[in-house]
Amino acid sequence: MILFKRGHEIHQHISELKKKGLLIGWVPTMGALHQGHLSLIQAARQDCQQVICSIFVNPTQFNNQTDFVKYPITIEKDIQLLTESGADLLFLPTVNEIYPMGFDRLEQFDLGKLEKIFEGEFRPGHFQGVCQVMSRFIKIIDAQHLYLGRKDYQQCMVIEKLIKIMQFPIQLHKCPTEREPDGLAMSSRNMRLNNTERKDAVGIFQALSYIKQNLKAGNLQPLLEKAKSILLQKNFRVDYIATADSTTLDPIQAWDGRQSLVALIAAYQNEVRLIDNELVTPSFD
Ligand code: AMP
Repeated sequence: MILFKRGHEIHQHISELKKKGLLIGWVPTMGALHQGHLSLIQAARQDCQQVICSIFVNPTQFNNQTDFVKYPITIEKDIQLLTESGADLLFLPTVNEIYPMGFDRLEQFDLGKLEKIFEGEFRPGHFQGVCQVMSRFIKIIDAQHLYLGRKDYQQCMVIEKLIKIMQFPIQLHKCPTEREPDGLAMSSRNMRLNNTERKDAVGIFQALSYIKQNLKAGNLQPLLEKAKSILLQKNFRVDYIATADSTTLDPIQAWDGRQSLVALIAAYQNEVRLIDNELVTPSFD
């Protein structure tokens, strides 16, 4: 695996590979890698001859400074995992490399209602930060294929919209969520959970499964209340638990029995905020 720290160097290298007709697949991450990230590398490997992973903890997408400061960094282990997984290139830029002009006058993107609901509501500015970093990286890396996890369901939709409004020539692949044996979605933030919090964290998966198993047409509010009580029993502090149209993310409180639904949760175990989602209508998966 070749490591690049400078944008112009990886850009040059990739443009040479593309001239040879190779397909380039890119997996963006913030590091502290786990099997969820590696599953994206494997998906990229299926389609592409060259697989690039980037690791960059993007300051502009953190609305909470503590979350940013405490974000886990395990770079040596990450490099080992990537080497074992067969990634070809690693892009590991500094903050200055990505934001040479600092953080003033960063580009703003018209994301419409997508940045006002769910993660957008509870993490103001988060998706602008995601788009700022993604548009810089897309231009630098210039891959034909991009691999993202459905674990960050709304982020996938935001990046899909960014690609559309900026007309970036890149194809987005949304990959399934990798879970621990008890169902907890793998996440770098899981490393910050103590033993009790880790045991309780499974409540998110249990609440999502409860919604999926008990979904019936009509008013969904009582179902969501019951699912929320599962989270409260496991000591979660809940930002949101909701059902939404899986293609538009419009919140759905009364289900007509036909719309495809995704259930979404964001909740805290003490200081650690976790998110997860599940497609809950039978036509999916
Ligand atoms: P992160 O490093 O958390 O920013 O995640 C980098 C990419 O990995 C994003 O596209 C995430 O959606 C994806 N990802 C994170 N956790 C998982 C998981 N458990 N399963 C599949 N993909 C994941």
